[in-house]
This record gives sequence, structure tokens and C-alpha cells, in this order.
Amino acid sequence: MSENPIPGSENPEKLTGLKQGPIKKVAAGIPAVVSALEMTVSEAGLERGMKALFNLNQKGGFDCPSCAWPDPDDERSGIAEYCENGARAVAEEATAKKLTAEFFSQHSVQELGKLSDYEIGGKGRIAEPMFLPAGGTHYQPITWDAAFEKIGTELNRLASPDEAVFYTSGRTSNEAAFLYQLFVREYGTNNLPDCSNMCHESSGTALGESLGIGKGSVTLNDFYQAEVIMILGQNPGTNHPRMLTALQKAKANGATIISINPLPETGLMGFNNPQTVLGVLGYKPGLTDIFLQVKINGDMALLKAIEVLLLEAEQKAPGSVFDQHFINQNTQGCNEFLQDLTQYNAEQLAAQAGIPFAQVQEVARVLAGKSRIIACWAMGLTQHKNAVATIKEVVNLLLLKGSIGKPGAGTCPVRGHSNVQGDRTMGIFERPTARFLDSIEKNFHFAPPRNHGYDVVECIKAMHAGEAKVFFAMGGNFLSATPDTRFTAEALQNCKLTVHVSTKLNRSHLVHGQEALILPCLGRSDKDMRNGENRFISCENSMGVIQSSRGVLQPVSEHLLSEPEIVCRLAKATLGERSKVTWDQYAADYDLIRTDIERTIPGFADYNERVRQPGGFYLPNCNRAGDFDTPTRKAHFHIAAPEKQHLKDGELMMMTIRSHDQFNTTVYGLNDRYRGIYNERRVILMNAKDMQDRNLKNGDLVDLHNHYDGVARVAHKFIVVEYPIPEQCTATYFPETNVLVPITSVAEKSNTPTSKMVVLTITPHQGF
Ligand code: SF4
Repeated sequence: MSENPIPGSENPEKLTGLKQGPIKKVAAGIPAVVSALEMTVSEAGLERGMKALFNLNQKGGFDCPSCAWPDPDDERSGIAEYCENGARAVAEEATAKKLTAEFFSQHSVQELGKLSDYEIGGKGRIAEPMFLPAGGTHYQPITWDAAFEKIGTELNRLASPDEAVFYTSGRTSNEAAFLYQLFVREYGTNNLPDCSNMCHESSGTALGESLGIGKGSVTLNDFYQAEVIMILGQNPGTNHPRMLTALQKAKANGATIISINPLPETGLMGFNNPQTVLGVLGYKPGLTDIFLQVKINGDMALLKAIEVLLLEAEQKAPGSVFDQHFINQNTQGCNEFLQDLTQYNAEQLAAQAGIPFAQVQEVARVLAGKSRIIACWAMGLTQHKNAVATIKEVVNLLLLKGSIGKPGAGTCPVRGHSNVQGDRTMGIFERPTARFLDSIEKNFHFAPPRNHGYDVVECIKAMHAGEAKVFFAMGGNFLSATPDTRFTAEALQNCKLTVHVSTKLNRSHLVHGQEALILPCLGRSDKDMRNGENRFISCENSMGVIQSSRGVLQPVSEHLLSEPEIVCRLAKATLGERSKVTWDQYAADYDLIRTDIERTIPGFADYNERVRQPGGFYLPNCNRAGDFDTPTRKAHFHIAAPEKQHLKDGELMMMTIRSHDQFNTTVYGLNDRYRGIYNERRVILMNAKDMQDRNLKNGDLVDLHNHYDGVARVAHKFIVVEYPIPEQCTATYFPETNVLVPITSVAEKSNTPTSKMVVLTITPHQGF
């Protein structure tokens, strides 16, 4: 990796002027409505904006392009079946601003690269295909045919299909994802990394091994029947805001909410539902009953401490705490697990987790008498070295209580991207099962590759080493979403060709291969007209519901293509006569795509009929049915030790987080109002004692360093913000600090970058 410390287009380090205010105690309310409407009107205009919002998440409307929180099965709000951040995601997409060839002729790639992600994202929708020739300084227009021919030629020029990488972002629809994997496999590779590799891969791995399915088991209705809801390493107020409505309903039905997080996130503490009079009046907003402010990566030790106390209670009154019948009928390995548990001291574990022992005892008392328990989690569990083991520990706790496969109980990994779960179901996976490949071979009459492909981390290394030469991304902002920004930038710049299917301009277009292409596609809210018909696609949410999504807005440009059409034309241009697949028919009729999905993937019987039903349909889920699709047909207890974090003198642990004005790498604004941070993203949240130990005060300017694997990584110019965070723990926003996340530091088994546990040292900023 080049030693030049001054960042280039991959990560301009610009300050914007921090303002601070109090940390909010309650999320949403009228401020959320105002924020949503302000952005909608400023980006899309009143008429266009309101048309979009009135159809957002409505039955027969279009699915939110932001997170994957489910819509109610029954009545949906006629006023607004969306949250502030859902509205802002749509406003982003529905913007009337568009970038034509003229814009790109006036602004060089280098000039655009100096802008912040917020500034780049605010430029508008890309209106036509753009090409950057080798040595070029400005993108120039290109026809669709020429673009597909260019890509096809480069792909066929490669020595092996494994020299190409085909990335998928979680916004890609089921229909496009199925065609994409079909094309890539007929082309001859399994190099299908996706954003799931960086987020819930650890969940899929843990749940698959423990319970036989890599997805959560609960439905929205289960929330309303739960006795206890545990929320681990998740910030729903910003990342899954409609979850707060479900939590409020659950609480009204008597549920106890236990939140476990290093940060006292506002959305965990209180919620003013702006869709209710009481919510507008701020009546009884409280959510969390017990808040456990765990140290970064302290979750495993905390879960073990709770289990030790539950075991002690069970031993005092056998059968009063553990669901012995469930354990005997449905699980394997419980005795060994309980035997291993006896070696631990709950008080010591509580201390290791950074939690007062009395709080752990209180939680154990609550759980002892309950069995309808739901565990929800997100990146705060999945992006750690021991993430898979920690998620299996969550499963261990639920198995002891028999809290899987019954109403009001189960697992709930909450997906952060609208169709990330659907893409995986469609076969977007670098390690496909033999069963899936057999089905492809049987139905499409070509032999798909059987060797596993690259996931995200592996493809970055392969591009950096020159082993992968063409990078194709279906959506997303690969550079800003991935770890070790400088290394990843060099990897992309090492490619012969980089191609992005995108709706809006982003940094990955500005850090590119020798040649680069941008292919502008229709967004979720855009109409997809063909022969007078406005076609629909479909998505799968976190609870495994498949539903249709039909756009309602006139696209900003006549030169946009739908994702399925882009894949079909790309496949024809690349595979030509040697293809066995009827690409033209798929492009003309999406029902044919769904018919072949139904033939190829279990659970999609009568796909075309059922997806047209209002609200769609649930995919089968063995756990929900009390079954376990493991080799033993049993759920498996798992034994792992809670790891102790050994920080050297001066070292701190950093976790990357989102601000409230952000969805993944899309930055809607510079504020993070729930945390009292305004107009600045280059901030580091620090514990007061850690600041004192380093003679730092609020507002000081510092540089952040990581030296993992002997590589010097630095992120300059961060403002110290005193914050209620545990000692030795800090937090910063991504993508600004992804430059510090080592490409070689990954979760065991899932290979997910450890963005939530980055060892940090801090020095006063050395001006430049
Ligand atoms: S909760 Fe998620 S899916 Fe629902 S409207 Fe908000 S961002 Fe969209």
C-alpha cells in the first residue's frame, strides 16, 4: 500500500464546522415529519414528492429502497406507511436534479473527487450512460449498445471468467438478482460478492449452523405477542425506524424491552409516534426497560453471565427456568454446553462486559420466568472477530428458553438493505450450494461453475493483486462501503475496467479502473414502462415476505434502463450465440423470470399469482415451523469462550456507526440530531476519562491511527466529542473511518470486516 499519507479522491478530509446540542431522549415526533417533508419537497418538489410518499410501502405501490423492515400484514397507514429515513431515501431517488453529458463535460473526475460524499450524492440522478476512456479526465456519453459491447469484449478478453468480479448491492430486485447470477454463472464464475458479506454474513453463518436456516424466524406479529424483546448491537431509531412502532405496540401488550449497546441510542430510549395524537403530544414515549451499556465486543461475556445465572436458578428449581421439553425434543449438545457454563463466574463476566452485576441479575430474573423471547440484532454483533460465536450464543439463550418456533419468540437479524435477503435467496452468493447449482444446470442446460468465488474481502485482495481485472457492480457504492479505503481504492484502480449500475453519482465512480462505465438504471420509485405496461418487480424483507413493487414516478430521463433489462442486454453482448438462456424474453416479460425462479428455488410456488396478492406472501421458514434444517434435524447448542480484549497502553477500541442523516454510504445531511451533533461528520465520540488521560478536551482536532498487521493507516482531522460511551470505547462515522478498518481483520467463518472493533491510537492533528 502506498505510503503517501495525504488522501486522494478516495477520502477527502474536509471539516464543515461542528455544532453541538443535547442528546435527544425521544426519537421521531414532529421533527421527523418536518425533516422528511423538507427533503422531499426540496429534492423532488411537492407534487412529485407527495405522489411518491403516498405510494411508498402501500399495497400495490412500491417498496422502500432503504432498510428491510417489514410492512404490516394487515392494515397499512393510509397517512404514511414509512419513516423519516424511508421518505428521505425516496426523496434522494425522486430528485428532479439530473446529470447529463453536459454536467460531466464541465466537471472532471478529479474535481468531483475532492467533494465530500454528501456533496457528491446531492448532485442528482445520472441521466445517460457515461464512459471514461483510458487516460481520460472527464466522463463522456456512450450509447447503451456501445457500453454493453465494451463490457462484453473486455469480459471475453479475460484469460478466465474468474478474473471478473460481479458485486451486488442490496437494492437489486429479485428478478434482476436471479438474472444476474444466471448470467454470471453461464459466463463461468461464482465471483458474486454482495453487501451481505459486510453486514449479516455472520448471522447467516451462525443461524445456518445452529438452526438450519440463515434467516430470522419471527414475523411482525410475533413482536405483538412477545414477553421480552432483546435488542443487541442495533440502532433502530436511525436504521430501522418503523421498528419503533412495533416495539411500542409490543410494550403496550406487556413486553419488557432490554437493549444492549455501547451507546444510549435515542431510538432505544423513547419514541414519539407522529402518527398518533398521544405520540404528537409526547405521551409516554418510553421504550427500553433495561439498558445495558456494554463495552464494545462485551456481548458474549454478558450473554454468558446471564446464562450462568439462569443455570443457577434452574438448578435451584429444575424445570422452572429452562424449557426441558423443547431442549429434549429439538436440540443437541445442551449437556456439554451447560457443563462448559459451570466454569464461569457471572460477576467476573459482567465486569468483562462492562455491566453492573445488579443489572445482569435483574435481566436474568426477567428472563427466568418468560419463554416468548425475541432477540434482535444488527451490525453491533455481526462485524466482530467472534461475531459468529456471539450470535450462536444468542441462539443458545433462546434454545434454553424454548424461544424458537412459537408465537412471540425467535430470532430477528434486522437487515439493513431493502432486498439484501432477497438477493441471497435468488442465488447471489459466492459459495452456492450444490443443490442450487444442480437446479440451475437442470433448468438452464449449462454447467455452472462449482468452485467457490470471491466474497467482498477476497475480491478486493484479488483486484489489488491483479488477479481480478474487471469489476462490475449492480448498485451500491463499493469503495465507500468497504474496509481499508486506501487499499480498496488501489484495487479498483488496478482493474482494466470498472462498471457501476447506479441511480446517482457516488465516490466509486470517481475512483475507477483504467476505463470506467456508469450505467444509469431505473429506481424503485420510477415507472418501468414496456409496451404501455408499468411492470413490477419484487423484494424480500427481513421477515421473509415477498411482495411486489411498482414505481409511480416518471423517470428523470428517457435513457434509463431497468436492472433486468441491463442484465439481459449485458448477457447477450457477452455470451452471444453460446448462451442457452432466453434473455430477450425475460427482458420483455418479467413473469417469465418469476416462472423460472419458481422452477429453480424452493418456496416460490405460484409466484406470479401470489406476488400479485396485496401484501405478497411469506417464504417457508423451518424455524418458524419449529423445525431445524440441520444435518441432524436438531438445533445445535454451541460452545465458545468470551474473548478478552487486550488493549495496549494508549490504545482504544473504535466502532464505525451511521449518523441519523445517513443510509449506508448515502449521506442525506451533516447532522446527527439524536446524538446532538450538527454540521460535521469528522467527529470521534470519546469517554470523558479517556479524553482526560490524553489531555484532550471537547473540540480538539486529532488524527486517528491503526497499525493492524504492521500497516500504518491514518485518518486525519477528527474533532473530539465527549460522549456517554464506555471507557476505552470510541465511535466514528463510516465511510470516513473505513480507511482504518484493516482488510485483513475479519470475522471468523463469515469473513466479514470487523468494522465494530478497530484498535485505535490518537494523536493531536499535525496540520496540512
Ligand atoms: S423502516 Fe426501513 S423500510 Fe420502513 S420506511 Fe423506514 S427505512 Fe423504509
